[in-house]
Amino acid sequence: MEKKYKPEIIEGKWQAKWNDSMYYFEASPDKVPYIIDTPPPYPTGDFHIGNALNWCYIDFIARYKRMRGYDVLFPQGWDCHGLPTEVKVEEIHGISRHQINKQEFRELCRQLTSVNIEQMKGMMRRLGMSIDWSKEYVTMDERYKRYTQLSFLKMYRDGLIYQAEHPVNWCPRCETAIAFAEVEYEDRDAYLNYILFRKILVGAEKKEAEYVEIATTRPELLASCVAVAVHPDDERYKSIVGKELEVPIFAHRVKVYADESVDPEFGTGVVMICTFGDRQDVRWWKLHNLPLRASIDERGRMTEIAFGYEGLSVEECKRKIIEDLDAKGLLKRQERINQNVGVCWRCKTPIEIISTRQWFVRVRKEEIINAAREIKWYPEHFRIRLENWVESMEWDWCISRQRIFSVPIPVWYCKRCGTVKVASEEAIPVDPVVTSPNTPCANCGGTEFEGEKDVLDTWMDSSLTALWAADWSFNAGSGIEFPVELRPQGHDIIRTWAFYSILRSIALTKKIPWRTILINGMVLGEDGYKMSKSRNNTISPDEVIQKHGADVFRQWAAIGGAVGSDVQFRWKDIVAASKFMQKLWSILRFSMIHLSDYKPFLNKKESFTKEKKNLRVVDKWLLSKLNKLIVSVTASMENFKFDEAMKDIRTFAWNVLADNYIELTKSRLYGRGGEEGKESAKYALHQTMKTLSVLLAPFIPFFAEEMYSYIANAKKEGEKSVHEEKWPEPDMIDSEAEQEGDLIADIVRAVRNYKSKRGIPLNAPLNKVGIYVDKEGFDTEDIENATATKVELCKSMSEISEGEIIDVDGTKVEIIR
Ligand SMILES: [Zn+2]
Ligand SMILES: [Zn+2]
Repeated sequence: MEKKYKPEIIEGKWQAKWNDSMYYFEASPDKVPYIIDTPPPYPTGDFHIGNALNWCYIDFIARYKRMRGYDVLFPQGWDCHGLPTEVKVEEIHGISRHQINKQEFRELCRQLTSVNIEQMKGMMRRLGMSIDWSKEYVTMDERYKRYTQLSFLKMYRDGLIYQAEHPVNWCPRCETAIAFAEVEYEDRDAYLNYILFRKILVGAEKKEAEYVEIATTRPELLASCVAVAVHPDDERYKSIVGKELEVPIFAHRVKVYADESVDPEFGTGVVMICTFGDRQDVRWWKLHNLPLRASIDERGRMTEIAFGYEGLSVEECKRKIIEDLDAKGLLKRQERINQNVGVCWRCKTPIEIISTRQWFVRVRKEEIINAAREIKWYPEHFRIRLENWVESMEWDWCISRQRIFSVPIPVWYCKRCGTVKVASEEAIPVDPVVTSPNTPCANCGGTEFEGEKDVLDTWMDSSLTALWAADWSFNAGSGIEFPVELRPQGHDIIRTWAFYSILRSIALTKKIPWRTILINGMVLGEDGYKMSKSRNNTISPDEVIQKHGADVFRQWAAIGGAVGSDVQFRWKDIVAASKFMQKLWSILRFSMIHLSDYKPFLNKKESFTKEKKNLRVVDKWLLSKLNKLIVSVTASMENFKFDEAMKDIRTFAWNVLADNYIELTKSRLYGRGGEEGKESAKYALHQTMKTLSVLLAPFIPFFAEEMYSYIANAKKEGEKSVHEEKWPEPDMIDSEAEQEGDLIADIVRAVRNYKSKRGIPLNAPLNKVGIYVDKEGFDTEDIENATATKVELCKSMSEISEGEIIDVDGTKVEIIR
């Protein structure tokens, strides 16, 4: 064995040697299944450090559970559809999606996706993920498309999917409806414009002021103004409630409503209600049953309702209207303010709320909140985030998208009467734009149809992953095991992936999707900020692996922070992890000097294992501490406390094993002091190294395999992998031996301190070490070996002569130079 640990060689060797089938789900009737609803990443081609952290957690669990005897299913899917790939394809080929036909465009998207998937798979393998590749799925494949369309049919039949004309969030640049979860909020500078609305006065009222001042950031929506509202307790405006105002420029009349939700402190305390400026407008529009005046179209252009401004963009219209208001003397003043604006998640264009005909999935809030409470959340507080989100939803989930690269909505419209015709189960997957139904219209008997052009929101695919993993059949209503055991995911997609998955599972199976959800945090840059290209603080897992290997990256992932908290990336943690690998390597190298010819089954194992009677006290001490380590690491793993598990293992290996045990037993291992002492030490060291390799296997699978191959496979035990081992069970906790061993280790340390303070070489003998200990058979052999000094046991204080007396854990130790 070389002195220096070389991860690139060892990791490369095992990656080439390992067989995928080692991690296959067995579907064994004798084992309890443990199904993981692995996230299907979006195939951008970049498996970034945040993904890597998430997958490390999953792999720790998968490997641990496998060793605990579960039949683990760790599948991997790819969530292919959606806007980013469309945009990328347009970029790469320098085309617009309108320029080529849909089939060709989809093909280009598919090609790009396939290339990206291969890249990301490479990184997953390099990181040592124990994925069951036989269960890989790709949402753009026909099988998965069929599954998504089947789920659509079922929910449509159950009345949980419907089509309606309703206001939706709309990106005018991407020209598609988007869901609430796809709206992001950004602070932007804006002007608050104080505009005069003329009162419509009759009779005696004519003495009053002629105008009402209204502040708005969106004067371009004047044409869409359908009402005005004030707070009912606002004394300033009591007289105008129920009256009418004339909208400047467009001159249509609107009524003044009293409404509790008006903020009297904002602007002048009077608000204009437009269809639609924001979500509050939608609420008011419904509540007061107001008319619809849509002045902005789907491309973000002004409609004929905004006569005089028709065809202008929103921004152009805003500028022009301000000019015109000013010219007419209707603009009192402008005030600079900071505004929180809803923008498209993909292109950051401010969204509009537009009323169009769309497909919706019913959101039954109660059901979802109740289901979320049935699921175990780690950490628990993230459940509140989901509940708050559900409570905040204003309308149902809009699932239709006016895009291309997605699963088509499997319906047609009868050309004669307009009735909706849904595809039959036998016909799907189907693209209704290409294929026609083979039965006539149920309503009028018509045989000509128009296919639905809209496609499904990509979350309609990915919200089915738990069902897919469990092989859930929509018709039979069963799968391998449902709910599945675990959903691991980031906290950034609680309101999307977690929310949609729960909703769909309840709708389709009436069950929660998973028993447990494990939420991971984000990775922050070395500067403590979110990683971003503009900050130049991004680190790729590849960079770490190139320099230090995958095991080091995985160790960092384990120890970097508690699950659920954001984890800061720090090179010094990577270096510390790397040092630990070298330390382990040195321990292994030392151990193999003594264990390379060790035959645990041929030696006197019987007498040791049965009662562990013939073991020396320091060997018992090590094994007892090892067993306590098994207990603590097991408890940590059960509670997803990977950082604590890894810390405990590090402390044991470094302090207990290397610094204390090996120092104490070196002499015995080299055979000074006879066969029996040597055998005892070899037994303890072998047990410890073997167990340690198993405990390390979930975290650093490459190193653990190398270690195990030396320790366990050295002497023809077969070519078993550490990853096929059983997780260890504690079988010996001996507190008496631990106490005695602690004392022995502390005495040796005290004597060494004594020597080093006086400049005496550590291996130089002293005249005498006397220990005042009232215990029969206190084992002095290892102290004598480690201090190179004769030890005398003294029964009482009076026997202690003229040396230096040191107190070690309450025991008096006398040292004579
Ligand atoms: Zn957009
Ligand atoms: Zn018809």
